[in-house]
Amino acid sequence: MTVKCSICGKRPAIIYRSSSGEYICRNCLEKVVRKNVKRTLARSRILKAGSNIMLYATWLAPVESIVMTRVVPRVEARYKTRITLAYPEGMESLIFQDVAERSPYEWSGRKGFLAECILNDIGHARSLCESKGCDAIVTPYPRLMLVKAGLQAVMAGRTDLLKASRQYHPEDPPIVNALSGLEKELILQYAYVNNIPLLDPAGSCDDLGAGDVLMSILPESREVEFSSLKALVELSKFS
Ligand SMILES: [Zn+2]
Repeated sequence: MTVKCSICGKRPAIIYRSSSGEYICRNCLEKVVRKNVKRTLARSRILKAGSNIMLYATWLAPVESIVMTRVVPRVEARYKTRITLAYPEGMESLIFQDVAERSPYEWSGRKGFLAECILNDIGHARSLCESKGCDAIVTPYPRLMLVKAGLQAVMAGRTDLLKASRQYHPEDPPIVNALSGLEKELILQYAYVNNIPLLDPAGSCDDLGAGDVLMSILPESREVEFSSLKALVELSKFS
């Protein structure tokens, strides 16, 4: 028996979204993802008409990078946003092709604690953004990855890393994390449905088992993925 989509009520569902209990068809999945990314970009208030943004794809989050490069240009298509796509070597055949400017960069790997890997990655994105004259950066880090990084920093007593994640200069280009409103499970389902390979992140980034801790509580409490990041942000204010 075919299950019908809970959203349109017409087409056959192809995925089950456990966070909402919905069965979703291919069309509605595309709409759900685009709508969510659009809302995240709008709420960030960093994109204005005629903005020159850089989409920063990274091997730290390959699946999410590819999803981001395919969704953001479509969401922004109706605005006069100029898009520069920065991507690491090896990813060229997987990313969305139709953007104003493509900017390949040499992937030099990332090492250390996950939080350090992300901070280095962001530092690299900022310098690329500056050299390309972009005025904002769109990154693909999934929320779960940021939670993992923050949790690990706390477990290791490295609250300096939490603090560093909040420090920026007023002249730094603003950053928005395009997929931060979507749960990891839905991002992976979207990737699978769109034939995006489910590649593992590259780099030697250690999360000290913080990922295992999270995975052990996630199935029972999916909202942890969203609420714990808020808790870590609050915590970083005291570090
Ligand atoms: Zn539908």
